[in-house]
Amino acid sequence: MTVRWRLPSGLEIFGLPTKNAYGGHWDLGPTWNYAVLADRPFLVDSGRFGQGSQLIAMMESVRINARDLEFVLISHGHEDHDGGLAELVNGTHLSVKAHAVYAHLIKTYPAQSPAGAKNDFPAKCWHCPMPESFYTQNCLGYHQVLQGLKVDPIGDGETEIGPDVRTYHLPGHSPDCLAVLLGEEAIIVGDIILPDISPWPTRQSLFKDVAEVIKPDYTEAAAIFGLCRYIKSLKKLIEITHKHPGLMVLPAHRFYYNDCWNQISPESRANELIQHHIERCGAIIAILNTGPKTAEQIAAEHFEERLLEGFGNIMAANEIVSHCELLIESEDVVAVDGNGYAATGSMQFETFINNLTWD
Ligand SMILES: [Zn+2]
Ligand SMILES: [Zn+2]
Repeated sequence: MTVRWRLPSGLEIFGLPTKNAYGGHWDLGPTWNYAVLADRPFLVDSGRFGQGSQLIAMMESVRINARDLEFVLISHGHEDHDGGLAELVNGTHLSVKAHAVYAHLIKTYPAQSPAGAKNDFPAKCWHCPMPESFYTQNCLGYHQVLQGLKVDPIGDGETEIGPDVRTYHLPGHSPDCLAVLLGEEAIIVGDIILPDISPWPTRQSLFKDVAEVIKPDYTEAAAIFGLCRYIKSLKKLIEITHKHPGLMVLPAHRFYYNDCWNQISPESRANELIQHHIERCGAIIAILNTGPKTAEQIAAEHFEERLLEGFGNIMAANEIVSHCELLIESEDVVAVDGNGYAATGSMQFETFINNLTWD
């Protein structure tokens, strides 16, 4: 399936959804890659590992010759977005644009990889919780091709990458997340906001593993990792939306799902997601009010059992850790005994989240 939109200015955008391997209860649905036929035409995202040539064929089916595009922009460095990149670049002349952190994190650093990590993984995958059976099948080839990739780095804040095309660095779901604003008409948001599902925030604790690799550009975790950063990015997205009312939102997952289209208003969806995190913080405090617990114990109480099956328990614990990091900052929770958390008795998180601002 491919979808074509023609916006009032005449700008054409093609939606090119590629299938995902992640099914079950944490299913994201396909990844929506987009070909934007602007003055300098480009592609956003490249599907999963092994899908680069499929994407080229999808474009050909709607008479887009990949060689006519100027570049491919990566919304963020998760494998369902950049997996097909090397294959795509090898089959075309396309150059690659991505946030500057992405260019650092796709490389391997055998001398710096954390203890116990796989030395031949790129830095962005050092924390990957997937078992060997998963990454052997899905990722090892992908890791290797990333090593030879040349990336044209995009900076923080707002960057003009073409006539009337701007990127915004909005980290939190991943340290390198970019949104792409197309004039006054549309915004490609990657996984920053999604219909139906809540993008999972990173943990600030991931920073220490990659600090050596990304310094001196970033010297503190809060600048690019964690739930606080993610909520600040959602607030920035609301601010952008205020300046450009009526934008069509092009998300990377769940745009079309279960036989229906999910159009979202960026402001109300971003506010819903902020509210979702406020509620989750409240639920975690309620669980901790019965005594100190580890992230895994909190996850087991908080999430439905079906969400904890398979890799689900790792994803669930990750969510809990990112929320507990925020709750430590709001002084509602303290870390105890190395890997546990305890409630302090206060409930300041809602005010704390409402007072977070971009800078
Ligand atoms: Zn993602
Ligand atoms: Zn994704």
